[in-house]
Amino acid sequence: MPNHMINRRALLRTGIVAGGLLAGATSAGTAVFARTAQPSNGTTPDQRPAGPDQAWATLREGNRRWVDGTATHPHQDADRRREVAQKQNPFAVVFSCIDSRVSPELVFDAGLGDLFVVRTAGQTIDPLVTGAAEYGPAELGTPLVVVLGHQRCGAVTAAAESLHEHKKLPGQLNTIASSLHSAYTRSGGDVDKMIRINTVDVVNQLKKDKLFAPRIAKGKLKIIGAYYSIDTGEVTRLL
Ligand SMILES: [Zn+2]
Repeated sequence: MPNHMINRRALLRTGIVAGGLLAGATSAGTAVFARTAQPSNGTTPDQRPAGPDQAWATLREGNRRWVDGTATHPHQDADRRREVAQKQNPFAVVFSCIDSRVSPELVFDAGLGDLFVVRTAGQTIDPLVTGAAEYGPAELGTPLVVVLGHQRCGAVTAAAESLHEHKKLPGQLNTIASSLHSAYTRSGGDVDKMIRINTVDVVNQLKKDKLFAPRIAKGKLKIIGAYYSIDTGEVTRLL
Protein backbone atom coordinates (compact mmCIF):
# COMPACT_ATOMS: atom_id res chain seq x y z
CA MET A 1 0.00 0.00 0.00
CA PRO A 2 1.44 3.43 -0.87
CA ASN A 3 2.52 5.51 2.09
CA HIS A 4 0.08 8.28 1.31
CA MET A 5 -2.85 5.87 1.68
CA ILE A 6 -1.62 4.72 5.05
CA ASN A 7 -1.15 8.32 6.16
CA ARG A 8 -4.55 9.34 4.88
CA ARG A 9 -6.29 6.54 6.73
CA ALA A 10 -4.34 7.24 9.90
CA LEU A 11 -5.26 10.91 9.71
CA LEU A 12 -8.90 10.17 8.99
CA ARG A 13 -9.00 7.91 12.06
CA THR A 14 -7.71 10.68 14.29
CA GLY A 15 -10.23 13.16 12.93
CA ILE A 16 -7.47 15.68 12.19
CA VAL A 17 -8.68 16.04 8.64
CA ALA A 18 -12.27 16.98 9.43
CA GLY A 19 -11.65 20.30 7.66
CA GLY A 20 -10.21 18.66 4.56
CA LEU A 21 -7.09 17.02 3.37
CA LEU A 22 -4.71 17.44 0.55
CA ALA A 23 -2.56 14.42 -0.04
CA GLY A 24 -0.01 14.98 -2.79
CA ALA A 25 1.90 11.87 -3.71
CA THR A 26 4.86 11.62 -6.02
CA SER A 27 6.91 8.64 -6.98
CA ALA A 28 9.75 9.96 -4.84
CA GLY A 29 7.77 10.63 -1.71
CA THR A 30 4.59 11.80 -0.14
CA ALA A 31 3.42 15.02 1.37
CA VAL A 32 0.34 14.99 3.53
CA PHE A 33 -0.97 18.21 4.99
CA ALA A 34 -3.77 18.53 7.47
CA ARG A 35 -5.87 21.61 6.87
CA THR A 36 -6.13 23.89 9.84
CA ALA A 37 -9.38 23.44 11.73
CA GLN A 38 -11.13 26.81 11.92
CA PRO A 39 -12.77 27.69 15.24
CA SER A 40 -16.42 28.68 15.03
CA ASN A 41 -15.66 32.38 15.58
CA GLY A 42 -13.60 32.47 12.39
CA THR A 43 -10.34 33.42 14.07
CA THR A 44 -7.30 31.22 13.86
CA PRO A 45 -5.67 29.68 16.90
CA ASP A 46 -2.35 31.42 16.36
CA GLN A 47 -3.81 34.74 15.14
CA ARG A 48 -1.79 34.97 11.96
CA PRO A 49 -1.80 38.30 10.09
CA ALA A 50 -5.28 38.49 8.58
CA GLY A 51 -4.72 39.87 5.07
CA PRO A 52 -2.03 40.41 2.46
CA ASP A 53 -1.01 43.85 3.75
CA GLN A 54 -0.73 42.74 7.38
CA ALA A 55 1.27 39.71 6.25
CA TRP A 56 3.69 41.90 4.30
CA ALA A 57 3.99 44.32 7.23
CA THR A 58 4.89 41.38 9.50
CA LEU A 59 7.59 40.23 7.08
CA ARG A 60 8.95 43.76 6.78
CA GLU A 61 9.13 44.16 10.56
CA GLY A 62 10.93 40.83 10.80
CA ASN A 63 13.37 41.84 8.09
CA ARG A 64 14.00 45.17 9.86
CA ARG A 65 15.00 43.27 13.02
CA TRP A 66 17.28 41.04 10.94
CA VAL A 67 18.96 44.06 9.33
CA ASP A 68 19.37 45.84 12.67
CA GLY A 69 20.75 42.81 14.47
CA THR A 70 17.76 42.74 16.84
CA ALA A 71 16.16 39.48 15.65
CA THR A 72 13.85 37.92 18.27
CA HIS A 73 13.73 34.43 16.67
CA PRO A 74 10.00 34.04 17.30
CA HIS A 75 8.21 30.69 17.25
CA GLN A 76 11.38 28.63 17.56
CA ASP A 77 10.86 26.85 20.87
CA ALA A 78 9.24 23.65 22.14
CA ASP A 79 5.96 25.46 22.95
CA ARG A 80 5.61 26.52 19.33
CA ARG A 81 6.49 23.01 18.16
CA ARG A 82 3.61 21.67 20.26
CA GLU A 83 1.28 24.47 19.15
CA VAL A 84 1.65 23.63 15.47
CA ALA A 85 2.03 19.87 15.84
CA GLN A 86 -1.53 19.08 14.71
CA LYS A 87 -2.22 22.07 12.46
CA GLN A 88 -0.49 24.80 10.54
CA ASN A 89 -1.60 28.21 9.42
CA PRO A 90 1.34 30.05 7.81
CA PHE A 91 0.73 33.68 6.84
CA ALA A 92 2.95 33.78 3.74
CA VAL A 93 4.54 31.72 1.02
CA VAL A 94 8.15 32.71 0.34
CA PHE A 95 9.55 31.50 -2.96
CA SER A 96 13.29 32.07 -2.95
CA CYS A 97 16.60 30.78 -4.26
CA ILE A 98 18.38 27.74 -2.80
CA ASP A 99 21.31 30.03 -1.87
CA SER A 100 22.52 29.19 1.66
CA ARG A 101 22.61 32.91 2.54
CA VAL A 102 18.95 33.58 1.78
CA SER A 103 17.08 31.44 4.34
CA PRO A 104 13.56 32.92 4.54
CA GLU A 105 12.91 32.18 8.23
CA LEU A 106 16.16 33.98 9.09
CA VAL A 107 15.87 37.01 6.83
CA PHE A 108 12.26 37.61 7.90
CA ASP A 109 12.90 36.69 11.56
CA ALA A 110 10.09 34.14 11.55
CA GLY A 111 9.72 30.64 12.95
CA LEU A 112 8.00 27.29 12.89
CA GLY A 113 4.61 27.30 11.22
CA ASP A 114 4.93 30.89 9.95
CA LEU A 115 5.97 30.42 6.32
CA PHE A 116 5.55 28.03 3.45
CA VAL A 117 8.96 28.06 1.82
CA VAL A 118 9.56 27.04 -1.78
CA ARG A 119 13.13 27.22 -3.04
CA THR A 120 14.71 26.56 -6.41
CA ALA A 121 17.95 27.76 -8.01
CA GLY A 122 17.41 31.38 -9.08
CA GLN A 123 13.75 30.97 -7.99
CA THR A 124 13.03 29.53 -11.41
CA ILE A 125 9.59 28.10 -11.87
CA ASP A 126 7.85 25.15 -13.49
CA PRO A 127 4.48 23.40 -12.94
CA LEU A 128 5.74 21.34 -9.99
CA VAL A 129 7.01 24.47 -8.25
CA THR A 130 3.82 26.38 -9.05
CA GLY A 131 1.83 23.57 -7.43
CA ALA A 132 3.92 23.87 -4.28
CA ALA A 133 3.31 27.64 -4.20
CA GLU A 134 -0.42 27.11 -4.78
CA TYR A 135 -0.93 24.87 -1.78
CA GLY A 136 -0.98 27.52 0.97
CA PRO A 137 -3.27 30.07 -0.72
CA ALA A 138 -5.60 27.48 -2.25
CA GLU A 139 -5.96 25.13 0.72
CA LEU A 140 -5.27 27.27 3.78
CA GLY A 141 -6.09 30.77 2.56
CA THR A 142 -2.49 31.98 2.96
CA PRO A 143 -2.81 35.68 2.01
CA LEU A 144 0.64 36.48 0.62
CA VAL A 145 3.19 35.07 -1.81
CA VAL A 146 6.63 36.71 -1.90
CA VAL A 147 9.00 35.91 -4.76
CA LEU A 148 12.46 36.74 -3.43
CA GLY A 149 15.41 37.29 -5.75
CA HIS A 150 18.79 38.12 -4.31
CA GLN A 151 22.08 39.90 -4.87
CA ARG A 152 24.97 37.91 -6.40
CA CYS A 153 22.79 34.93 -7.29
CA GLY A 154 25.16 32.14 -8.34
CA ALA A 155 22.48 30.32 -10.32
CA VAL A 156 21.63 33.40 -12.39
CA THR A 157 25.33 34.19 -12.85
CA ALA A 158 26.06 30.66 -14.09
CA ALA A 159 23.07 30.80 -16.42
CA ALA A 160 24.18 34.17 -17.80
CA GLU A 161 27.69 32.88 -18.46
CA SER A 162 26.39 29.74 -20.13
CA LEU A 163 24.00 31.69 -22.34
CA HIS A 164 26.66 34.27 -23.17
CA GLU A 165 29.18 31.61 -24.19
CA HIS A 166 26.58 29.34 -25.84
CA LYS A 167 27.91 26.57 -23.64
CA LYS A 168 25.45 24.08 -22.15
CA LEU A 169 25.63 23.49 -18.41
CA PRO A 170 25.88 19.80 -17.39
CA GLY A 171 22.91 17.68 -16.35
CA GLN A 172 19.69 19.42 -15.38
CA LEU A 173 21.59 22.61 -14.57
CA ASN A 174 20.97 23.53 -18.16
CA THR A 175 17.21 23.48 -17.49
CA ILE A 176 17.79 26.37 -15.07
CA ALA A 177 19.72 28.32 -17.71
CA SER A 178 16.94 27.72 -20.27
CA SER A 179 14.37 28.98 -17.81
CA LEU A 180 16.35 32.23 -17.45
CA HIS A 181 16.90 32.76 -21.16
CA SER A 182 14.26 35.44 -21.59
CA ALA A 183 15.48 37.41 -18.54
CA TYR A 184 19.05 37.14 -19.88
CA THR A 185 18.06 38.58 -23.26
CA ARG A 186 16.22 41.53 -21.72
CA SER A 187 18.98 42.26 -19.18
CA GLY A 188 21.61 42.82 -21.86
CA GLY A 189 23.91 40.51 -19.89
CA ASP A 190 23.78 42.52 -16.64
CA VAL A 191 23.42 39.83 -13.97
CA ASP A 192 21.86 42.02 -11.28
CA LYS A 193 19.31 43.32 -13.79
CA MET A 194 18.66 39.73 -14.87
CA ILE A 195 17.95 38.71 -11.25
CA ARG A 196 15.40 41.51 -10.90
CA ILE A 197 13.79 40.84 -14.29
CA ASN A 198 13.44 37.14 -13.50
CA THR A 199 11.85 37.92 -10.12
CA VAL A 200 9.29 40.21 -11.76
CA ASP A 201 8.65 37.61 -14.49
CA VAL A 202 7.90 34.94 -11.90
CA VAL A 203 5.50 37.28 -10.05
CA ASN A 204 3.67 38.07 -13.28
CA GLN A 205 3.48 34.40 -14.17
CA LEU A 206 2.06 33.50 -10.76
CA LYS A 207 -0.48 36.33 -10.94
CA LYS A 208 -2.00 34.61 -13.98
CA ASP A 209 -2.24 31.26 -12.21
CA LYS A 210 -5.77 29.83 -12.30
CA LEU A 211 -5.93 29.34 -8.54
CA PHE A 212 -4.32 32.68 -7.70
CA ALA A 213 -6.07 35.08 -10.11
CA PRO A 214 -9.57 34.87 -8.50
CA ARG A 215 -8.10 35.27 -5.00
CA ILE A 216 -6.11 38.31 -6.13
CA ALA A 217 -9.24 39.84 -7.69
CA LYS A 218 -11.11 39.43 -4.38
CA GLY A 219 -8.28 41.04 -2.40
CA LYS A 220 -7.59 37.83 -0.51
CA LEU A 221 -4.11 37.35 -1.95
CA LYS A 222 -1.19 39.49 -3.02
CA ILE A 223 1.88 38.36 -4.91
CA ILE A 224 4.90 40.53 -4.28
CA GLY A 225 8.34 40.53 -5.88
CA ALA A 226 11.29 41.49 -3.69
CA TYR A 227 15.08 41.62 -3.74
CA TYR A 228 17.38 40.55 -0.91
CA SER A 229 20.72 42.29 -0.39
CA ILE A 230 23.33 39.83 0.83
CA ASP A 231 25.49 42.77 1.93
CA THR A 232 22.93 44.53 4.15
CA GLY A 233 20.29 41.85 4.81
CA GLU A 234 17.60 44.19 3.57
CA VAL A 235 14.60 43.05 1.53
CA THR A 236 13.39 45.68 -0.94
CA ARG A 237 10.06 45.39 -2.72
CA LEU A 238 10.29 45.35 -6.53
CA LEU A 239 6.53 45.21 -7.28
ZN1 LIG B 1 20.56 32.49 -5.96
